[in-house]
Amino acid sequence: MGSRRDFLQKLSVSAVSLPFIYSPTNLFAASGDPYDGPILKVAIMGLGSYGTRVAEAMQSCKRAKLVGLISGTPSKIEKWKAQYSIPDKNCYNYDNFDAIKNNPDIDAVYIITPNGLHKDQTLRVAKAGKHVICEKPMGINAKEGQEMVDACKAANVKLLIGYRMHFEPKTVAVIKMRKEGKFGTPKFFQGQSGFTIGDPTQWRLNKALSGGGAMMDIGIYSVNGARYMLGEEPIWVTAQETKTDPIKFKEGIDETIQFQMGFPSGAVANCLSTYNMNNLDRFFMTGSKGFVEMQPSTGYGPIEGRTHEGPLTQPHVTHQTLQMDGMAALIFDGLQPIVPIDGEEGVKDMKIIDAIFLAAKTGNKIKL
Ligand code: NAD
Repeated sequence: MGSRRDFLQKLSVSAVSLPFIYSPTNLFAASGDPYDGPILKVAIMGLGSYGTRVAEAMQSCKRAKLVGLISGTPSKIEKWKAQYSIPDKNCYNYDNFDAIKNNPDIDAVYIITPNGLHKDQTLRVAKAGKHVICEKPMGINAKEGQEMVDACKAANVKLLIGYRMHFEPKTVAVIKMRKEGKFGTPKFFQGQSGFTIGDPTQWRLNKALSGGGAMMDIGIYSVNGARYMLGEEPIWVTAQETKTDPIKFKEGIDETIQFQMGFPSGAVANCLSTYNMNNLDRFFMTGSKGFVEMQPSTGYGPIEGRTHEGPLTQPHVTHQTLQMDGMAALIFDGLQPIVPIDGEEGVKDMKIIDAIFLAAKTGNKIKL
């Protein structure tokens, strides 16, 4: 048991010295190649709507497998246990999951619970010596994110954030084009991320559980997208908030925020994050030599788009299947995605979101 953990940890550490760009040409899930290497054995914590999607997608994985469950609802455990042939000994609740420490069947825990719970749950999983995969946003602010990074480092386990777009073939192709200079110097990014949210009683509209409104949930795609589409880190932000329904969107829950970011090269971004408009899932980037537009740009797919060279034609593969096989490749072989998915990447987004909230509140231009 201990030796297997040591083995995994040694692999994780050695992975640091094996940089490798993960590209659509070596996506395990997309290829027909047989695979007989190690399998990442994952427990899902939080059997809600996204957890359900991840579990289904993992059935097509070659390198990752759902082997454990953590839930506060016994009836869900029963249903999932039968559906995915999971043994009793790999099932936990929120009170007893620290005991996962003694379970050699589980390598990693995928936290898919409300945002406000991610930090404490990450600290507990790290303390149990298991790798942490955590959904976005990684926490409710940058301070929490940094604590999570530090805890996982101290425990010598990986912390990976559920940035599924970093494995999506059309997105990866665009980032490669940008790195190869096909767009020239990136100049401008426009990101529009939003949907009309329903049930006013859901956790996404409860500040303690969500950490904020649309920005934390969906606006984060434009924040992260601006960074990977332009290939730079912003140095300032400005933001303006609009609220049409203060009953549904209470204090601390943003309904609509427009935000702007400036980058060291002089590139700028102009984005919209909202819980009050549908059909907002669009990225546009233009550089000195070319452009790309993607719509939908971050939904579950298929992603669609075109550049000045023509349409993006890379195949659609279920994002969560690619992500989980990619995460296994990272943990076992040190294969890095084209854009990082580690805790530090998550903290970068959280710092920008903190600054956007401050800019919206004060009306000031916030330097990063
Ligand atoms: P959900 O409400 O459908 O599921 C949340 C789960 O957490 C439920 O099973 C619920 O029972 C459980 N839970 C545990 N403690 C809880 C508590 N105190 N209050 C409420 N629920 C509690 O939500 P979801 O859509 O599955 O979102 C979960 C996480 O996944 C969020 O962080 C969200 O941002 C993220 N997410 C990511 C994507 C993506 O594409 N990467 C998509 C959707 C959601």
